[in-house]
Amino acid sequence: MKQRARVVVIEDESAVRAGVGAALEGEGLAVSVFADYVDIETIEAVMPDLIVLDVGLPGGDGFELARRLRARRDVPIVFLTARDAVTDRLTGFQIGADDYLVKPFAIEELLARVRVVLRRAGRHTEPLQAGDVLVDEHAGLAFRNGQPLGLTPTELRLLAFFVRHRGLVLSKTQLLSQVWGYDAYDPNVVEVHVSALRHKLEERGPRVVETVRGLGYRLVVR
Ligand code: CA
Repeated sequence: MKQRARVVVIEDESAVRAGVGAALEGEGLAVSVFADYVDIETIEAVMPDLIVLDVGLPGGDGFELARRLRARRDVPIVFLTARDAVTDRLTGFQIGADDYLVKPFAIEELLARVRVVLRRAGRHTEPLQAGDVLVDEHAGLAFRNGQPLGLTPTELRLLAFFVRHRGLVLSKTQLLSQVWGYDAYDPNVVEVHVSALRHKLEERGPRVVETVRGLGYRLVVR
C-alpha cells in the first residue's frame, strides 16, 4: 500500500479548520493543521504533498506565504478564501494555485478538488468500499458486485458521501449542503438523485439506500 499523502491545512477559523481537517483525515490522509501564519521551516518539516491555505490569516497574507513556499518547492496549493474578487483569483492563479475555493464551500467539493490535485501530483487515496459497493472517485467509477453502475458525476459524489457515512441517517438538508453546496436549496433535487441512484444500485442487488421517514436516508450494507 502507498504511503499516506500528507496535507497541511492553514486556516484561522476554528470551525472551518476542524471541519476540513476531519474530512481530510476521513479520506485517509495524514493531516497537520495550523491556525495561523507559520514559518516555511515548520511547513517544510511536514513535507506536505498538498497545502490547503487560507488567504486571510491574522499573521499575514496567505498569498505571500504561498509565494515563499513555491520559491522553495513545487508543492500543490489549494487556496481557501472569503474574498471573491476577480483580482484575488488572478493573484492566486498567478502564484500557481492548483485550485481555489470561495467560502462557504461544501466539504465534498473541497474533497473532490483535493483528490484531483493529489492525483495530478501522482498521489492517490484508496477507493471507498461498503459491502458490495465500491466507489473509485479517481477513476470516476462505481461498482456493485464488480459490475459498473454507470453513475453521473453527481450520483457518484452522492454515493461516495453515503459510503463515507454508512449506517448514519443523512438528512436532505445535510446532503444538499455537503454534496451540492450551500446555494442549492431544493430538497426535490436530493429526492430525484437518490431515486436515480437507487435505481442503478438495485439493478445489481437489494436496496441499500433506505428511507428513514421524516429524517432522511441511510446507507445500510449487510
Ligand atoms: Ca481567515
